[in-house]
Amino acid sequence: MKKVQKIGVVGAGTMGRGIIQLFAQAGHEVYCFDAWDGAVAKAMDFVTGLIERGVEKGRQSREQADELIGRIHPCEQLNDLADCDVVIEAIIEEIGAKRSLFKQLEAVLRSDAIIASNTSSLVVADIAAECANPERVAGLHFFNPVPLMKVAEIIAAVRTSAATVDALKALIDGAGHRAVIAADQPGFLVNHAGRGLYTEGLRIIEDQCASVQDVDTLMREAAGFKMGPFELLDLTGLDVSGKVMESIYEQFQQEPRFRPSSLVAPRIAAGLFGRKSGEGWYRYEKNVRQDAPRIAAPALRAGIKVWIDGGADDHESLLALAQQGGAEVCDAPDDAELILIQPWGWDVSSYCAQNDLDARIAVAVDPLPGLDKHRTLMISPITSTVARDAAHALLAQGGDVTIVNDSPGFVTQRILATIVNIAANIAQRGIASVEDIEDSVRIGLGYPAGPLSIGEKIGGERILMILDAMQAQTGDMRYRPSLWLSRRVTLGVSLLTPEASRV
Ligand code: NAD
Repeated sequence: MKKVQKIGVVGAGTMGRGIIQLFAQAGHEVYCFDAWDGAVAKAMDFVTGLIERGVEKGRQSREQADELIGRIHPCEQLNDLADCDVVIEAIIEEIGAKRSLFKQLEAVLRSDAIIASNTSSLVVADIAAECANPERVAGLHFFNPVPLMKVAEIIAAVRTSAATVDALKALIDGAGHRAVIAADQPGFLVNHAGRGLYTEGLRIIEDQCASVQDVDTLMREAAGFKMGPFELLDLTGLDVSGKVMESIYEQFQQEPRFRPSSLVAPRIAAGLFGRKSGEGWYRYEKNVRQDAPRIAAPALRAGIKVWIDGGADDHESLLALAQQGGAEVCDAPDDAELILIQPWGWDVSSYCAQNDLDARIAVAVDPLPGLDKHRTLMISPITSTVARDAAHALLAQGGDVTIVNDSPGFVTQRILATIVNIAANIAQRGIASVEDIEDSVRIGLGYPAGPLSIGEKIGGERILMILDAMQAQTGDMRYRPSLWLSRRVTLGVSLLTPEASRV
C-alpha cells in the first residue's frame, strides 16, 4: 500500500479545522482550501492558537510547534491540492455542493488519490454519483472535536474499493484514532447505535412513566452513563437532533425501532432547542441548569407489614432494609400492607395480575441496577400513597430513590434493552463488525461499555425477556428482538459471538 503523505482538506469550518490539526500533528503535510475567502486564514489562526497554547503549557517545544505549523499549507485554489494522496471534504451538508466538488476534485487529483467525505447524514454513494471512479470515494466521518474524539468511521459505499478502505484505515490508525468500518447505511455506525437512548427516553416521557429529570438521573446514577437522553438533546440542540431522528427513521423505511416522538416538533416550533436558546427540556440561567429539587423521603412507619416477593433478585437486601426500618415482614402477601416486587420487563400492573398480587399495595424495585446504585421504585396506577411512601422510606435508608409511574421495564431496563437490541441488529445486518460496534459506541458516544457488552453483562436471556415483555404489553413492533440476539440466547452463547462463517 502506498504511504499517504499529503492530505488535502476542503472546507475549513468546525470539522475542517480539527481534521487539519489531527493530520498535521500526525506528521502529514496538510493542504487546506475553503470557498469562502478568509475561512482558511481563520482556521489557521484557530489551529496555531491551539498549538501555541500547547507550547505555553509545555506539551511541545517551540521547534516542534514551528515544524507542525509549517506542515499546514493554506491554498487559494482547488488546483493547489493536485498532489495530495487523500483529500477529505468537510464542506456544508448539501448533496449538490458535495457532488459537484467531488467531480471537480476528480479532475484536479491524480488517478490514484482518494477522496473522502466527512458527511454525517448523506448517502456516500450519492456523493460519488457523478464521479468517474467511485471506487476511490469513501466516507470518513469524524466527531467533534476531531483531535479529542478518537474514533473515525470509514464508510465503505457500495462501489468503494477494498484498497481505498485499507488505505484510509492505515491513515486513521497512523493518526492515533480508532478506525471503524461501516456500511453506507443511515447514521452509519455511531449515530445508528445512538438512536435507542433518545427514542426510548422520549417514549418513556410520552407515556408519562417518568419526568425528564428523573430519566436523566437514572441513566447517570443507576445505569452509569455520562449523560441522560434529555441532557444530551439539550447539548446538541433539538433543532439539529430532531432532524437527525426524522431523517434516520425515514431512511430506514419507517422502521418502528427508530420512530421519533410527536413531542419534538412543537418544542422545535417554540424554540426550545436546549442550552443554546436558554431553554430546552431544562431551563438554563447563565448557562446553569435549573433542576427541580429532589423529593425528600417520608418518615419510616414502624410496624408496617411488608411482604417481599420470593422471586426478587435482591430479596435478602430488601429483607434487611425492611427489618432495619422497623417493618414487620410477613409470610403471605394477603397479610401485608406493602408488597415489594422486582419484575424484569413487566410493569407493576401486569406483574400483579400474573401473580395474583394486590396492585393497590404493590411497589416495584428495579432489579437491574440493584440496591447498591441509585434505586428506582415503580408504582401501579392504583398503588396507594400509603404503600408508596412506606416503600420510599424503607428504600431511602442508605440510598437515593426515584419513583416512577408504571412502565414495562422501569427506565433503565427498557432503555438499555433497546440500545442492546439496536446494536445486535447492526451486527445482524453486517453494517459493522462486533469489535467496531463496541469500540465506536464506547469512544464515539462515551457509553460506559460497548452496547453488546452491556447486554452481555445484564445477560442475553434477560434482555430478551425484557424486550418480549415490553412487546407483549405495548404491542409495539419497536421492541421485537433482533435475530442476532434471539439466536445467541437460544444457542446459549455470548452476544459478542460473531458468525463462525457467513456465506
Ligand atoms: P461549517 O459550516 O463549520 O464549515 C463548512 C465550511 O465549508 C465553511 O467554512 C464553508 O465556507 C466551506 N464551504 C462550503 N461550501 C464549500 C465548497 N463548495 N467548497 C469549499 N468550501 C466550502 O460545517 P462543519 O460543522 O465543519 O461541517 C462540515 C461537514 O462535516 C458537514 O458535512 C457536516 O455534516 C459534517 N460533520 C459535522 C459535525 C459537527 O459536529 N459539526 C460532525 C460530524 C460531521
